[in-house]
Amino acid sequence: MSRRLRIIGGGLTGILAAFEGHRLGWRDIVLHERFEGLGGVARPRVAHGAELRDGCVYFGGPGDPIVTILTTHGAKFEAFANRFGSVSPSTTGATIFCRDFGGPVVETEETALASVGGASLADRLSAYPEPVRGSLERYCRWHLDDAGLAGIDAEAAIPLAINRVVPAYADFDALADAKRADPRMDDLWGIPRGHWGRTANLVASLPTGGFATLFETCRRALLDLGVRLETESLVPPRQAFAELGDDDTLVWAASPTPLFKPLGLATPHLLRKTFASYIYEARFDGPCPAYVQNFTAQGSAFRVYVYVTGGRTMAVAECVREADPLDLKAEMADLMAGLGALEVGELAQVSVQPRWIYHSREAVDGLAALRAAAAARFGPRFIAGAWEPYAKSAKLAQVNAALAAAWTGESALALTA
Ligand SMILES: Cc1cc2nc3c(=O)[nH]c(=O)nc-3n(C[C@H](O)[C@H](O)[C@H](O)COP(=O)(O)OP(=O)(O)OC[C@H]3O[C@@H](n4cnc5c(N)ncnc54)[C@H](O)[C@@H]3O)c2cc1C
Repeated sequence: MSRRLRIIGGGLTGILAAFEGHRLGWRDIVLHERFEGLGGVARPRVAHGAELRDGCVYFGGPGDPIVTILTTHGAKFEAFANRFGSVSPSTTGATIFCRDFGGPVVETEETALASVGGASLADRLSAYPEPVRGSLERYCRWHLDDAGLAGIDAEAAIPLAINRVVPAYADFDALADAKRADPRMDDLWGIPRGHWGRTANLVASLPTGGFATLFETCRRALLDLGVRLETESLVPPRQAFAELGDDDTLVWAASPTPLFKPLGLATPHLLRKTFASYIYEARFDGPCPAYVQNFTAQGSAFRVYVYVTGGRTMAVAECVREADPLDLKAEMADLMAGLGALEVGELAQVSVQPRWIYHSREAVDGLAALRAAAAARFGPRFIAGAWEPYAKSAKLAQVNAALAAAWTGESALALTA
């Protein structure tokens, strides 16, 4: 009997799992997607030849593992000089623009870190001296609608873009030495690119022709490999579990929320943050694509992203809450001013959607219990879709390790322990 690989979820995680499963040797592969097209959260609406993107999704430059896999299957990418910046509050009431750094800048020279235990975001922030801690707490309260930081996992610092902070008045040479010598200093403090030896993120890439082209290329490549694509096919967990034969492997590359009850677990409290995205026609005389992050805890947009699609320039304001689309125009121009003059035109789309990128401590513990319950019941035949990490590369590594373990019959839990 042939071994079957069944993948639930046609986002990037599910697509990459199908490619990797085929590479490892599976030949009976089926991928289920509840909507009509592949791509999940990265699939944009296309209007009059232009992609209306809700937010900024980049791939790494040439050599990035995901770019390499997708290129092998026919996708094309355009690399570009990665241009970004941040705007932070200043004690004078003005703002601080920082070029080539996407995190907050705080007016301090103090870089000593307190030793704090605990795995919450509140614990992570309490390691910083004042005024860094206060500034980050204000930003988090604005961004997360006053959700208690003690209940949020420390890793949320990554999607919040506060995982590294620049101490504006510190001696960057001394800080660079400290970062090289001490992983914790390196983890918590940042130095803008160009002010020291490290030059990460110089180049990023976007799919040639846009995301719709990328996912169409993936669809054709999967079909060419013999993968069966079942679109408009929502698979309930109980059904997937009941149909899981001894020779089958199931990858759950979709939301974990419906899995808890069928596995006999209480669903943990999840932080369900709603984002509002406003997409406009625009003109911009700076580098493109480019984005700027807002750490002032003022206004509505936490990021403004400018990109070209179908020969048109679009600007997106990703907002922490719904905003007045007219008021947003001036806010967007102010935030981008450090990179170029932005003229915001007609509104093309508004989308208000929940995302699950910030995890509560309870969710992280719940996901560990979920993995353990699934492993006890199904062994390596059940593969969890790398729910916790935010970075695409970390998701890929986790799922690929579990697929390799399932193919050879080893326990995925033993492999990742
Ligand atoms: C604790 C936690 C809770 C989460 N809760 C939710 C949630 O309630 N809702 C949510 O959308 N995301 C939720 N997420 C996000 C979810 O993890 C991601 O959507 C997905 O696991 C990551 O895969 P991706 O990167 O390919 O993402 P995506 O781009 O989101 O791709 C997932 C794809 O799966 C499809 N899909 C979802 N369910 C099914 C199904 N039953 N059958 C077939 N296709 C399906 C979607 O349409 C989508 O195309 C949660 C994440 C965590 C960590």
